[in-house]
Amino acid sequence: MKKKVAFYTLGCKLNFSETSTIARNFTDEGFERVDFSEKADLYVINTCSVTENADKRFKTIVKQAQKANSEAFVAAVGCYAQLKPQELADVNGVDLVLGATEKFNITSYINDLLSHPERSRGVGQVHSCEIEEADFYVGSYSIGDRTRAFLKVQDGCDYKCTYCTIPLARGISRSDTMENVLKNAQEISKKNIKEIVLTGVNIGDYGKGEFGNKRHEHTFLDLVTKLDDVEGIERLRISSIEPNLLKNETIDLVSKSRAFVPHFHVPLQSGSNEILKKMKRRYMRELYVDRVSKIKEVMPHACIGVDVIVGFPGETDEHFLETYHFLNTLDISYLHVFTYSERDNTEAAEMNGVVPKNVRSKRSKMLRGLSVKKRRAFYESQIGTTRTVLFESENKEGYIHGFTANYVKVKAPWDPELMNTLHRVHLTKIDTDGLVRFEFVKAFSS
Ligand code: SF4
Repeated sequence: MKKKVAFYTLGCKLNFSETSTIARNFTDEGFERVDFSEKADLYVINTCSVTENADKRFKTIVKQAQKANSEAFVAAVGCYAQLKPQELADVNGVDLVLGATEKFNITSYINDLLSHPERSRGVGQVHSCEIEEADFYVGSYSIGDRTRAFLKVQDGCDYKCTYCTIPLARGISRSDTMENVLKNAQEISKKNIKEIVLTGVNIGDYGKGEFGNKRHEHTFLDLVTKLDDVEGIERLRISSIEPNLLKNETIDLVSKSRAFVPHFHVPLQSGSNEILKKMKRRYMRELYVDRVSKIKEVMPHACIGVDVIVGFPGETDEHFLETYHFLNTLDISYLHVFTYSERDNTEAAEMNGVVPKNVRSKRSKMLRGLSVKKRRAFYESQIGTTRTVLFESENKEGYIHGFTANYVKVKAPWDPELMNTLHRVHLTKIDTDGLVRFEFVKAFSS
């Protein structure tokens, strides 16, 4: 009987790409992949350290697995598993916790557990490491889970942002070889995947080698230039890139490229230079303005998404309003708003000027309101234009959704023929739920 394995992924696109690769390793070893809600012999949870209440979420997911099969093994990998291995191992029902250097060897640990079940009963085994040991690179990409594939090109980070635990969870910045990225991209394009999303931790820093080699073999610009020439890839999307690493040449390349879409997600974090300094971000807000205007100069229809943190220690009402007005005047399309939360072993967690929780959530609410306004204004600016939509593959209450290249979300009555297909459409109006309706160009042109 094939052993059944199920996966649950928390967090970012990078985690999804790694879960998908780990899942393929299991099926290559004869396991059958099943949905997490089904009965399985093994449940693997890929954890995140950024998620609010990561610990509560983890315990709930473990309980869900135990409910599905109380005899099953439960294994935890990912950022939280690297940061707090014993805390996870102490959770009732957890059999195995693997750190950053071991997560891709999970099949051998599991085969050992399956052949010696007595070894884990009731005690979570921990196989972790000092994060300095995680200086080698393992490639990954996601397929089959969604309409688009997440292609990992870089891992870890050398920056020291004072609120962030990712360098502690994923190690130093290191990248895949250009050859391997292109090989993975070709493999993906052969699987009828229409869109590839480049993912990593700090992908603008692409090119640094393994084992602490800080020299850039290639640059991010080299990478996007090469990828744009790969046959069979319809669309390429840059998941997120630091403003100081988003060069004019990269923006120009995207504006003239065959496959790269006019959508940039650029973390800002604060609109106050004083707070940016306390965050140890590597730019001031003037650079951010310059990046936005450069993008809009060569691609006026481009979509620009912004990460912003509210409630950082020392953020006064004045600082917050500075951020609010800065974003309000900026020609951007939507916000991802994060409420600051203290993380162990970060500089910010020791800082004075702690912002009360209720003030943090009030500020978060205000910025999320601004994001709705910005997204609506951006969608309105696109009404009357003709765009290419990639349709998703889920029936969402009788509708099929899709995204234009510049990240406008559209909807149409469910039609399975449209699943995972690209179509030229004319954007006509914004529906009451904020999604955009359209007409197919063929109908429109006649
Ligand atoms: S750039 Fe800063 S926020 Fe982003 S992963 Fe690196 S340290 Fe964290």
